[in-house]
Amino acid sequence: MKLPKNRENDYSRKIMKARAEFLAKESNQKIEYLHNSIIDPELTKGNIENIIGFAQLPVGVIGPLTINGEHTNGDLYIPLSTSEGALVASYNRGARAISMSGGVNVLVARDKIQRAPYFILENVFKAKDFTDWLETSFDQLKEVTRKSTNHGELTGYSTYIHGRIVYVRLEFTTGDAMGMNMITKASQDICRYIKKHYPIQSYAIESNMATDKKPSHINAILGRGKTVTAEVLLKERVISRFLKTTARDIDNAYRRQVAGGQIAGIMGSNGHLANGIAALFMACGQDLANVSESCVGYIYTEAIEKDLYVSLHLPSLVAGTVGGGTSLPTQKECLRLIGCHGAGKARRFAEVAAATLMAGELSLAASIVAGDFVTAHEKFGRNRPK
Ligand code: NAP
Repeated sequence: MKLPKNRENDYSRKIMKARAEFLAKESNQKIEYLHNSIIDPELTKGNIENIIGFAQLPVGVIGPLTINGEHTNGDLYIPLSTSEGALVASYNRGARAISMSGGVNVLVARDKIQRAPYFILENVFKAKDFTDWLETSFDQLKEVTRKSTNHGELTGYSTYIHGRIVYVRLEFTTGDAMGMNMITKASQDICRYIKKHYPIQSYAIESNMATDKKPSHINAILGRGKTVTAEVLLKERVISRFLKTTARDIDNAYRRQVAGGQIAGIMGSNGHLANGIAALFMACGQDLANVSESCVGYIYTEAIEKDLYVSLHLPSLVAGTVGGGTSLPTQKECLRLIGCHGAGKARRFAEVAAATLMAGELSLAASIVAGDFVTAHEKFGRNRPK
């Protein structure tokens, strides 16, 4: 579909409806819901093109979840959007188990995001000279970034020489924004500065080494976005009375699952982090494609007498509370429900995300061990066509 040259009226209700009607005619299908949202399409400028309406998905809530973080303290109700029946029920159960045990401790250990342009030099020796020049030019590159964004800061970089190609993995802080637009613009300005001041042959803004929207070992080891860590000590009475199992059984099950995951070659060791992260991202206006790196995570368990210590390490949670989809109407409402909309809230959001994921992991592990994994889905999650 051709985009109109003048985008001024592109987001009016009239144009949205006309597009939907055109599609209905083309496909010979009725369109009843897509364009009939009460949300003003004008509010979607910067988030979508060729708008024909709104995908409306159900949002459920879990909680209260007791979170002891550096930016979050207290009991929260957390909105999750999904079409998978049993997911919200399961996360809710995990949240209650955590809260009955005193809550989940959580903190953001690192907060940086990357863009990775590459540069072509004449040969390997010139490539090495270029990396030396970069070292002496770092202050100038920081200054270029300062002129490009008010909230982003270039904090470092790493170089990888492969023949005459130099990969430069630039690393930034981005305030409360997830930051990919911000740092892509800054990286472009940096590339242009380099082209002007150093005899490279050519460059490209991205080498796929960032690595945006892909799970990767470099993200898992060095971190991307927020690196978050959480821990909980599940009490014996909660495990036995509420989750109907034992610390030892869950601990054993986790170790066997880690071994199974190693044979299968999965990245990370977790049960279903993607479920919670996708549902939270959907409700709260995050870029859903970042689920791919955000759901890489590692669970550790240790039975301490009859209690169970569980920790969760998330190396690459990519999210923000300013910019992107965070000010779309329902997404803003959901962020506000957890006190996470706007400036100064990004790390709190990361803490809430990790706490939520912990709830889902515990509930899934307990249900597998206690034998109610299938019954829960049969009860809540089936939609057999009538
Ligand atoms: P953005 O909405 O493009 O920009 C955020 C804006 O908020 C900036 O103008 C920033 O100002 C401003 N801002 C105000 N208060 C801020 C605060 N406290 N902290 C940080 N920024 C503040 O958002 P973004 O996070 O940079 O980009 C996210 C979007 O990028 C998502 O929609 C995602 O889908 C998309 N994306 C883009 C690429 C790409 O390659 N361009 C790749 C993947 C995803 P300053 O600019 O003056 O700092």
